[in-house]
Amino acid sequence: MSTQTLSGGCQCGAVRYRITGTTFLPHTCHCRMCQKAGGNYFMALASVAKAGFIVTRGEISWFRSSEPSRRGFCSRCGTPLIYEAVARDNTNVTLGSLDDPLAIRPEHQFGAESRVPFLCEVLSIPTAVSMDDPEEDGVKLAEVASSNHQHPDHDTGVWPMESKP
Ligand SMILES: [Zn+2]
Ligand SMILES: [Zn+2]
Repeated sequence: MSTQTLSGGCQCGAVRYRITGTTFLPHTCHCRMCQKAGGNYFMALASVAKAGFIVTRGEISWFRSSEPSRRGFCSRCGTPLIYEAVARDNTNVTLGSLDDPLAIRPEHQFGAESRVPFLCEVLSIPTAVSMDDPEEDGVKLAEVASSNHQHPDHDTGVWPMESKP
């Protein structure tokens, strides 16, 4: 449970939000729908009252993933931002989209039926820091850093959003 004011947004900066409500039920969800929606093995989410989640820039786009629920994302860059039951008073925010991804730590896991069986093994593989490898798949990481179009991890007055497709 976290009562601090948190900010976050999508990768390109077209959608920014602020959380003023108390967050609760921080969790990972390994269900097949969260895997698809996140393009990943699981999603990390925390709940907050819909009234305590304020969009401060742009507009969230929605995919109605089932009759009772929908998923919110940035239509410009594709970042998943929200999962929610339409009829409920709470929404769920993706923890990776927070400006401070360490602000909330998951305490529950759902969707055990589709959790990838090798997940723990994958996470115990020795890790390398990104800049350790000056060239990864032909992409020069120094060039990535110097031409980074990702929105910074804080609110900005104006953000150029001039990235090419
Ligand atoms: Zn975006
Ligand atoms: Zn799920």
